[in-house]
Amino acid sequence: MEDSQKLALFRESGIYHFNDSNTVFIDPVRILNRSYIRHTVSPSTYYPRFFQTLTSTTVPSSPTKRKRKKRKRSPKALNERELIAFRRHQELRPLLVKAHECLLKSNELLDAFRTFRSEGASSYCLKEKCVGDDEQCFVELALQSPQLVLTLNLRVPVPETYKDLEDSPNVQYCEQRSILPAFNNLVVNDTEDDAVAEILNNHYIMPRESCFYMSDLGQIRNLIPAHADCGFNLIMVDPPWENASAHQKSRYPTLPNRYFLSLPIKQLTHTEGALVALWVTNREKLRSFVEKELFAAWGVSYAATFHWLKVKANGSLISDLDLFHHRPYESLILGYSPGKVKHSDNRSKFKPLKEDHVIMSIPGDYSRKPPIADLLQEYIPGIKPPRCVELFAREIMAGWVAWGNEPLHFQNSRYFVKK
Ligand code: SAM
Repeated sequence: MEDSQKLALFRESGIYHFNDSNTVFIDPVRILNRSYIRHTVSPSTYYPRFFQTLTSTTVPSSPTKRKRKKRKRSPKALNERELIAFRRHQELRPLLVKAHECLLKSNELLDAFRTFRSEGASSYCLKEKCVGDDEQCFVELALQSPQLVLTLNLRVPVPETYKDLEDSPNVQYCEQRSILPAFNNLVVNDTEDDAVAEILNNHYIMPRESCFYMSDLGQIRNLIPAHADCGFNLIMVDPPWENASAHQKSRYPTLPNRYFLSLPIKQLTHTEGALVALWVTNREKLRSFVEKELFAAWGVSYAATFHWLKVKANGSLISDLDLFHHRPYESLILGYSPGKVKHSDNRSKFKPLKEDHVIMSIPGDYSRKPPIADLLQEYIPGIKPPRCVELFAREIMAGWVAWGNEPLHFQNSRYFVKK
């Protein structure tokens, strides 16, 4: 395909495939926008780091501040775990370098990045004028007001014109409001339009045909479907892994690894099986926990690892590729959950995955993962369209069930612009 055609496709879909490789560049804003009818995701709020320089002024450093002398540290020998991590990185390095070279050679795509900022800047102004919502901490709210309710505003066809739905474009719509428990309750937008959930004067945009269940891990079993053929074909998991970063601690609570062993992956799996996609950080201890304990506890067989390489808007990596504790990439470990016993021969039917997939994008807010479900479609077993669930979600996608203690976090209207 011609570069210009690929670029046109990218503008529509948010996905740019590089020739002859399993390397893609994605724009999460364009991908997410396909989930909404009357709203668009604001690039300036999705990419806060990228837009920071537009709004913030640099504070000059105080001339009285004495510069601390950098002490020279002698290089420390790597311990056994660090050595494994080092070798893992060395093995992966050529693939990442090659993927990054593809991006740097793609002048048209790099030019398109430059326009992100000007496109986003106008929506930033709009957002400033029309949205005043505050950030709500759902974890605290759940503790203080477990009985809290929300108002769900759906746009549904007026009953008299309902029969015309199929043949007439002039169907009239009306607002339908329902008061529902905000926590420990499945909130459903079964319309083909955006819905708005209102909690304590804050507004949250729900994409079409989506659900969320906001609860603590203790209630996750309420997501298990009564019948396995109503289970899920894609199970995305982004656990709150423990991390030494103080920054992370202030963003959301974390949990010790053993808590994830009892996630009901088997019970959430569709009869025909599921693709399980698990985000992991680069800590070697975590990788070996997943490989040796977690997948076995879930009954999941390893399939492959995809790599998310984080770049800046000028195409450069967000940090040095070889920086030991701040690698510019994270991994998505994929495996198959077999489904019902009578379908045990499923394993041989699951499509094999290659280890050479690299996904590049400009990162959003802290720990926000890019929406990559489109890239997994061909590997998802069972019914089409597949039934998808995200565990520990902070946002909701069209057609998905989002579960976690703050699945509405990035649905706040502050992240959107009205069309
Ligand atoms: N995938 C998300 C994204 O792209 O923005 C990031 C998820 S973040 C790594 C982990 C999430 O798990 C946080 O929203 C955190 O609040 C939530 N979490 C932490 N402890 C939890 C618990 N006990 N029950 C439910 N969710 C929890």
